[in-house]
Amino acid sequence: MAEEHKVACGFCGFVTPRSGLGLDISSSPDISWTHHYRAVYCTGPNDSEPRLSGVGCYTSSSAQNGVPLKPHQRFDDVDLNPLPLVVIRDVSPPGPEIPDTEKETYSWGFKFHDACWSLLVQASAPRSVDIKLLWRILLSVPCAYGVPNWGHTYGGLYYGTRKDPTRGEHFALLGLNSHLIVPSTFSDPFKVPELDAMIAKLRIDRDESQDADSRGIPLHRDSKSNDSFAILPFELKEMLLTYLNSEDVAHLRLASREMAAVSLSQHFFQSRFWPGQEFEVAFDGLHLTPSDKRKTDWKHLYHEMKKRRNGNMVFLGERNRQRIWKQTIKPLVAAMDRLSEMSELKGSSEWKLDLELEGEADWKLIKSQRSINNESSNELRRRVLRAEVELPPAIVEAVYISFMSFFGTRHITGLRISFYGGEEAEIGYISTRSEEKLRAGGFLEGLHAAVAEYGIRAFALRTSQLSEFLEWAGDFDDALPQMSVKTNKGPIRKIRAAFDGFRMQALLIT
Ligand SMILES: [Zn+2]
Repeated sequence: MAEEHKVACGFCGFVTPRSGLGLDISSSPDISWTHHYRAVYCTGPNDSEPRLSGVGCYTSSSAQNGVPLKPHQRFDDVDLNPLPLVVIRDVSPPGPEIPDTEKETYSWGFKFHDACWSLLVQASAPRSVDIKLLWRILLSVPCAYGVPNWGHTYGGLYYGTRKDPTRGEHFALLGLNSHLIVPSTFSDPFKVPELDAMIAKLRIDRDESQDADSRGIPLHRDSKSNDSFAILPFELKEMLLTYLNSEDVAHLRLASREMAAVSLSQHFFQSRFWPGQEFEVAFDGLHLTPSDKRKTDWKHLYHEMKKRRNGNMVFLGERNRQRIWKQTIKPLVAAMDRLSEMSELKGSSEWKLDLELEGEADWKLIKSQRSINNESSNELRRRVLRAEVELPPAIVEAVYISFMSFFGTRHITGLRISFYGGEEAEIGYISTRSEEKLRAGGFLEGLHAAVAEYGIRAFALRTSQLSEFLEWAGDFDDALPQMSVKTNKGPIRKIRAAFDGFRMQALLIT
């Protein structure tokens, strides 16, 4: 089945239409939400201008399903008739089989349910989703059957073969779906009617006097009190509490009598549902109209949610939301946050070298197992980014290795080499916040690397200064395959490296 005739969501993994299941639709929940989807896509062979589409609607009768061009457009907008639609042809740019005349109009990219996209928007709040950062990540993960391989089986919706995780190998997706029916995956993860009904029941008629009550009784102040919070007005103390996580609120109230005396207001309990807080995943109340939001008994709702959590009580849509949130959305937002703090790719990108040739005579090569010839670059026709840097003939003081954590695994993203005399050389994506330092104290002659399936995981230095044992930066593990390179003679003069959107996949020295 061609990509354009189905919707496979890159966040939840659900595929529309469900095939080969003999599913009794009449007894299934309403799955119309799985027909509404967006795409993050590019048009033409170039991959540098990704866009977010509007909301399209999958229909089984239509030979081609498309999405509206602009993010604010929907398939059912009345004033946009006939709507120009973009058909997403594949997850890869146009290949040699596509005639040149069609290449410029060929759209390719990734599909997501509008409901699942809304989860990403919620988890990224108050910031908006950075489409370029997301695109960099999407182009850096392997992909099969139209969905990115995040390293999990989408809650069992796909077959996953676990290879050897200790060797840095993640599972590979095998089948289109596992034919497992996971009931919660049929329920809308964004709009959960049972949750809405529960919240609607918890309405109170709040007025100003009640708000004033919630400020509590003023503490009888001991003039000799050295509680530094004593000088703060109530509003500031309350504000402080709303920004702390619930555990820290408890600690602070144990430590300070002043803070303990602040009676927790409805506003405070509402803050427990804000992004990053205890019940961030139960954000439904925050989407109410301002007046309904004001009338909601947040304190009651908070205690109700705690009770339900302790009793493991959860509605189907809520369960689906929790799965997608924990498996994909949260680690993805965390990765986007870290990526936003990294430098642009450092080093000149002039060189062109076929890494398959294992390097030219004078170049020594380290590469990850599947980086260069794998489904994520060659078969998917994705771009590998290259960088080159020249090193001064000086003694190296230290090498600083930058890392990025991605879905629980740390990968090397770049190197910063600091020489005696103050010179520096940088290659790759640098993040001074994540750096680990390796001391050198001699000429840099080579490197040892621990190499995983998708990227280099640890480095140790080979210097003119002989040392008895290797000092590693990164997640060194004996089980990971190791590679070593050394120049033919003397210090390293040039370093080249290949990268995906953030990970170092290969390194060459001469
Ligand atoms: Zn989805």
